[in-house]
Amino acid sequence: MKARQIDGREVAAAVRAEVADDVQEWVRAGHRPPRLEVVQVGSDPASSSYIRSKTRACAEVGIEAGTMKLPDTVSARELREAVRRLNEDEGVDGILVQLPLPPHLSAHDVIEAIDHRKDVDGFHPMNVGRLVLDQPCFRSCTPAGIRELLRYYEIPVKGKHAVVVGASNIVGSPMAVMLSRENSAGKATTTICHKFTRDLTRHTIAADILIVAVGQAGLIRGEMVREGAVVIDVGINRVADESADRGYRLVGDCDYDSVADRASWITPVPGGVGPMTVAMLMKNTLLAARGSIYPR
Ligand code: NAD
Repeated sequence: MKARQIDGREVAAAVRAEVADDVQEWVRAGHRPPRLEVVQVGSDPASSSYIRSKTRACAEVGIEAGTMKLPDTVSARELREAVRRLNEDEGVDGILVQLPLPPHLSAHDVIEAIDHRKDVDGFHPMNVGRLVLDQPCFRSCTPAGIRELLRYYEIPVKGKHAVVVGASNIVGSPMAVMLSRENSAGKATTTICHKFTRDLTRHTIAADILIVAVGQAGLIRGEMVREGAVVIDVGINRVADESADRGYRLVGDCDYDSVADRASWITPVPGGVGPMTVAMLMKNTLLAARGSIYPR
């Protein structure tokens, strides 16, 4: 079987267009535009680049965005205080603390300091807990984006065996929870694998839907995938490539060619899951402004 490609750029554009329409309608109804505030600690170039792409996406859909820049010497108390001010600012709907933080700061503590009603990344324990309880919440953007891809391509999930490789708080764990809940959008039988999983292939080969979020180029090869499986590759890895302008290219966690030979659907890297993450952040910010999850 030769897999069909899941086009994340197309689906992300559709999500962003819908958000842009909804923002216009919201503003036409007399409300101020939604506002996202990004907190950046230090000046890590990769973080700056991610923030730029988020603020650009905001501008495209009519969401206002600001960046609060704090020095990498900021103390935990000062950072919590800055977050508290944003919590109390009526003009701010969504708050996002760009990770990673310098080593002297705890991401967990900062995330917990965010008002969960403004936690558009969906990382706050209140939102994670409500996800587990199958209650309305802000859902972590990458797994929410993957759920949207499956929905867009009408790929059935109910009753399927979904295997998630990778168990991080940001991607793997919320993905597995989302797919496994029996009352909302999941309804799959779900297995979660991580670095302590023995005989990974025994699990991956059993997957109807295989989601890989590890960060190791080529971890999943064709022989580890069931014929006809749906494969979602979340990984973003740099591999040296002298023919590329930048001297490297981006690849996922799957060995694309051998996996595509067996799968029925596959996401490319780049152009698969990546564009969905920012699109879902736009959606969450709109939901926060409208009070759709937590009424104001
Ligand atoms: P992480 O490092 O926090 O977690 C990696 C997970 O993989 C861990 O649970 C670990 O136990 C597991 N793991 C490591 N080696 C393994 C192995 N050999 N077999 C099975 N499991 C193994 O990473 P993360 O933040 O979840 O990100 C994972 C990848 O997804 C990275 O490449 C990251 O760049 C990418 N990512 C992409 C997006 C996007 O928008 N496309 C968003 C977030 C992360």
